[in-house]
Amino acid sequence: MKLTSWGRYPHIDTTGASFETTDQLAALLKKNGDLIAYGMGRSYGDSALNSRVVFSKRFNKIIDFNPEKGLLVCESGVSLEEIINIFMPRGWFLSTTPGTRLITVGGAIASDVHGKNHHTAGCFSESVESFEIMLPDGEILQCSREENPGIFHATCGGMGLTGIILTAAIKLQKVRSSYIRETVKRCQNLEEVFACFETYKTTTYSVAWINCLVSGSDVGRSVLMAGEHAETGSLEVKLKQPISVPFDFPGFCLNRYSTKLFNWLYYHSRPSFVENRLVSLDQFFYPLDSIGHWNRIYGKGGFTQYQLVLPKAASYDGLNVILKRIAKAGLGSFLAVLKLCGPQNDNDLSFPMEGYSLALDFKIERRLFPFLDELDQIVLDYGGRLYLTKDVRMPKHVFQKGYPGWEAFAELREKTGMKKKFNSLQSRRLGV
Ligand SMILES: Cc1cc2nc3c(=O)[nH]c(=O)nc-3n(C[C@H](O)[C@H](O)[C@H](O)COP(=O)(O)OP(=O)(O)OC[C@H]3O[C@@H](n4cnc5c(N)ncnc54)[C@H](O)[C@@H]3O)c2cc1C
Repeated sequence: MKLTSWGRYPHIDTTGASFETTDQLAALLKKNGDLIAYGMGRSYGDSALNSRVVFSKRFNKIIDFNPEKGLLVCESGVSLEEIINIFMPRGWFLSTTPGTRLITVGGAIASDVHGKNHHTAGCFSESVESFEIMLPDGEILQCSREENPGIFHATCGGMGLTGIILTAAIKLQKVRSSYIRETVKRCQNLEEVFACFETYKTTTYSVAWINCLVSGSDVGRSVLMAGEHAETGSLEVKLKQPISVPFDFPGFCLNRYSTKLFNWLYYHSRPSFVENRLVSLDQFFYPLDSIGHWNRIYGKGGFTQYQLVLPKAASYDGLNVILKRIAKAGLGSFLAVLKLCGPQNDNDLSFPMEGYSLALDFKIERRLFPFLDELDQIVLDYGGRLYLTKDVRMPKHVFQKGYPGWEAFAELREKTGMKKKFNSLQSRRLGV
């Protein structure tokens, strides 16, 4: 069968099997050849792709919930959406959520995802107390910061390359309302949006949509959104049924002019400043989930997301250079996001570092990859790195320079037989 992930590039021929029990999974691991776990395929690139995959989505039981501690134990195929639907009405929400609720707990740990609160709460793994993982020989190992810490820190952010995560104990946060008190502010340029992030640095959530196609003194024009959980209001979850993009858009629809128009409209349709307005959970956290198959907008050829992070001291200068380069090339699309990240954690391959992260979608086209090679060099020059869960083309040297933990990670994989059993197109390309 053909398999792809969210970027719809590449499509590969694969044999896949689902598992619902650990015995079934152990039997799949016994067969010759390597494989990789596949959750809900919301990673953009090739980290969940291999000629053989195991689908975890049916391994999805809730095992226990301790309301004293807010500790949920569940299987790795449970989705964040399922957790929200069950626990929000009881006053509990995820400690960290990415911009989509349509991912599995296993995928959240393997990518060590971050959300709009990285500067206040860190990555998903910060809420993970422990997990069980199946190793190449079928052995099940319990891992936490105290028990098998080496495998714990390699697995959080390890892109499925250390084994199959089975169950996880994750801490939820107590909330009084499913609504968010949101502040929105239009920012004229990079200087203004950086100042704004500083102003809101103690606010739990912050993020900015950024126009990557403007140049001159307007570079960095953006709309910043900051939010806190509301204290009153209902705990109801009204996640909208998505409207769907029914077919692949023809390639000519997404071009420099349509993208410029979209960006102009987006900026000017936002209030220049509004404070503490109440918005729903899905409006604040998951606006893209309300459009099913939005990835079809990029056409049949697919797209990729380029997400970089730069250390704080280098962020302003580095982003200035990068944004100018993108505007000049005219390649960026309408989905560009700027986030403030807090300190980096102890995991071998987790992406965030203290500084600013920029994520930007690009339609796959012939001149794109040489252009991204140029951006890579700028990212490295400013001491940054690229996010593995969005990546489909990062060269090995860019990976190794960006992730100093790669050697320890590669050594662990070699030593434990993980390298023989768990591989993806990405792990082969990165030589890890
Ligand atoms: C609209 C949208 C918005 C997003 N916003 C954000 C964001 O704000 N922040 C962010 O960090 N990410 C974001 N992402 C990326 C997404 O959160 C991650 O790619 C996540 O890992 C996808 O989870 P999944 O279950 O779909 O896993 P997949 O895409 O299927 O797999 C991703 C990785 O996890 C591994 N994996 C999956 N299950 C297991 C398992 N049981 N055991 C071991 N390894 C496993 C796979 O092998 C692969 O390496 C976004 C994606 C989309 C589409």
